[in-house]
Order: sequence, then structure tokens, then C-alpha cells
Amino acid sequence: MSDNCLFCKIAAGQIPSNKVYEDDAVIAFHDINPVAKVHFLIVPKHHVRSLLETTADDAAMLGKLLALAPKLAREQGLTEGFRTMINTGEQGGQSVFHLHLHVFGGGGKAETMMAQLIQ
Ligand code: 5GP
Ligand code: ZN
Repeated sequence: MSDNCLFCKIAAGQIPSNKVYEDDAVIAFHDINPVAKVHFLIVPKHHVRSLLETTADDAAMLGKLLALAPKLAREQGLTEGFRTMINTGEQGGQSVFHLHLHVFGGGGKAETMMAQLIQ
């Protein structure tokens, strides 16, 4: 756990979240500021700052995040499609520096949702 990391604290249960899924290695919870009807984040519990800090050793973890996306999206009612996104680094629009995969959709066009997320 990294000191003063918001998503480490959420993963440890020290800060509450509206949980979608949890296992030993991963937690998923609704975004506090959703850009679509459904918007949740899939987060590895182990602290990794961003996609830039991952190596080949993280391939299984990264695969797990992505593989969970359609399963959890369906469970949240996104049966017709959704958008996934990983913001990486300050120049990539990342604001919380603990790796996370955004999953969002349902109501609103993807382009509109994108505009909100990249401003
Ligand atoms: P980023 O901009 O780093 O890709 O995404 C960070 C996301 O975390 C944002 O969409 C923001 O709304 C969300 N977020 C920030 N603080 C909290 C929080 O305390 N709880 C939850 N559930 N989401 C948060
Ligand atoms: Zn962290």
C-alpha cells in the first residue's frame, strides 16, 4: 500500500466506495463523478502508479482487469456496449495515480462522454 493513495485506501476499505466487485487482487467501484449512467473503475489492489510503470510481469493482472470489464459491464446493465479507458500520466489525463480501468456507458453518446473525460 502506498501512503496517501486514494485507491489504496479504498482497496483497503479505509475509505468507503460503492462496490461493484471484489476479490483478492482486484476491486471495482462506481466512479464518484460519473460521465454516463453507469461508470465504474476496475482497480488492482496492489499499488501501481500508472500503465507507464507496468512491466511484462504485470501482464496477467492487466489481462484480468480487461477480462472483468465485459462481465461487470453486463452485470451493471451495459448489454449493448460500453467504453473502456485507461488514462496514463499527467499528459494522458490521469488524476488518481493508482492504475485503473474506466468502464462506462448507458445513456449519452460515447463522444459526449469522451469530451467530458478529456477536458
Ligand atoms: P483518472 O482521471 O485518474 O483517469 O480517473 C480518476 C477517477 O476517479 C475520476 O473519474 C474521478 O471521478 C474518480 N474519483 C476520484 N476520487 C474518487 C473517490 O473518492 N471515490 C470514487 N469512487 N471515485 C473517485
Ligand atoms: Zn495506490
